[in-house]
Amino acid sequence: MDYLPLFHCLQQRPVLLVGGGSVALRKARLLSRAGGILHVIAPKIHPQLLQLLEQHSGRYTLRVWQPGDCGGHVLVVAATTDNEVNRQIVAEADGQGIPVNVVDTPSLCSVIFPAIVDRSPLLVAVSSGGHAPVLTRLVRARLETLLPAAYGQLAQLAQKFRSAVKQRFDDLQQRRVFWEDTLQGPVAEQVFAGNLAAAELLMEERLAGKVPAVQGEVYLVGAGPGDPDLLTFKALRLMQQADVVLYDRLVAPEIVDMCRRDADRIYVGKAASRHSLPQDQINAHLVELAQQGKRVLRLKGGDPFIFGRGGEEIEELAQNGVPFQVVPGITSASGCSCYAGIPLTHRDYAQSVRFVTGHLKDSSLNLPWHELVSDNQTVVFYMGLGTLPDIAVQLQAHGRSADTPVAVIERGTMAQQRVITGSLSTIAERVREAALQTPSLIIVGEVVALRERLSWFKLQAGQSA
Ligand code: SAH
Repeated sequence: MDYLPLFHCLQQRPVLLVGGGSVALRKARLLSRAGGILHVIAPKIHPQLLQLLEQHSGRYTLRVWQPGDCGGHVLVVAATTDNEVNRQIVAEADGQGIPVNVVDTPSLCSVIFPAIVDRSPLLVAVSSGGHAPVLTRLVRARLETLLPAAYGQLAQLAQKFRSAVKQRFDDLQQRRVFWEDTLQGPVAEQVFAGNLAAAELLMEERLAGKVPAVQGEVYLVGAGPGDPDLLTFKALRLMQQADVVLYDRLVAPEIVDMCRRDADRIYVGKAASRHSLPQDQINAHLVELAQQGKRVLRLKGGDPFIFGRGGEEIEELAQNGVPFQVVPGITSASGCSCYAGIPLTHRDYAQSVRFVTGHLKDSSLNLPWHELVSDNQTVVFYMGLGTLPDIAVQLQAHGRSADTPVAVIERGTMAQQRVITGSLSTIAERVREAALQTPSLIIVGEVVALRERLSWFKLQAGQSA
């Protein structure tokens, strides 16, 4: 980190601005918007700058900067075109411990101006430390579109109710939860719709306990197959407001890292491991945590409702009257097929796709094989790495051609993704040679052949995906 971001309170404090041209005028506008009392030193001053000084009780001195001018100010901004003068100003300000900025010369500055998104009292500041001003502007533009204009009003409402909320909730965590629910629930929606009176009324009702103020809840969230960019906005938002996170092996560490920093993290492992919690204990744990008033994030790989036992988890919640939400994720069949360049359906080759588990049930693969052998169907096997040889044999035995293309994708969508292709007759051997590990997904069908033309992931880096 090259700089420490801080917000500087200039209200009624003296600020020195050296220079009187249009650049100085731009800075003067910003400084006076922040409440600074300006002193401008320059031999010649832009008429609009003079006007601004008059409006904001500023003053000016019509001459060049002289040693000794910096003293008595809380901030010095140099906007002259004379590099030597700028250097002297910096030396003097630094010597006196006064923060100093030279416009457009970050190397001389002890403080720099960020790009800002102003939703006062809410402020967002963005900086690249002077390295990439265009990028900074692009980020700012994106933030402008992300933050509703009424955020300022929402912040004002928060300010208004701050002490009432503090009185109502002694407990810090309950207070935080109350605010989070306020700022992204129905109250915020009323503010965004311009109904300030309705928002305040709702706020008072919540404080009076007419609407439950704080309640535990479970978010069953799909984290997608691995690439953090494949998370949904909703997943990310809930990840950042959860008090406790239960996750398993399939969720990439980078994704777990994106959860709220001070949320408790509980690893619940994978079903087959000795270190994991059995499913019924996970279910009971979710209920218990929510009943303590916590917002519990149950983070699952892929989509929680596709081979994720999500149904079992929320059934227990429903039985115990615990509120919950379910957020879909990109299932590994979608993620892996896209990142491997294999469309799951195609007008010419596959009119349907089936997702099947390759996991043994009662120590055998009890699958409706005759339904999986039609030429125009893509079949995706989850949890099938261990049973791949058997899958390949059974599909052929039930009539699917030995030449049918097959792909096995290990750690799909992640930087370490590996794809092994072959046919029903060769794939088991190739996968064994490559020593693929879990998680791996198997795709069977003519569409696999399209990969030769459509593979894209990592190609830019000159590697094969
Ligand atoms: N709910 C998950 C699936 C859980 S079952 C989903 O919707 O994707 C676990 C199986 O998913 C693994 O055995 C593997 O077959 C597959 N899988 C999950 N993530 C994967 C990944 N990144 N790459 C390849 N396969 C993956």
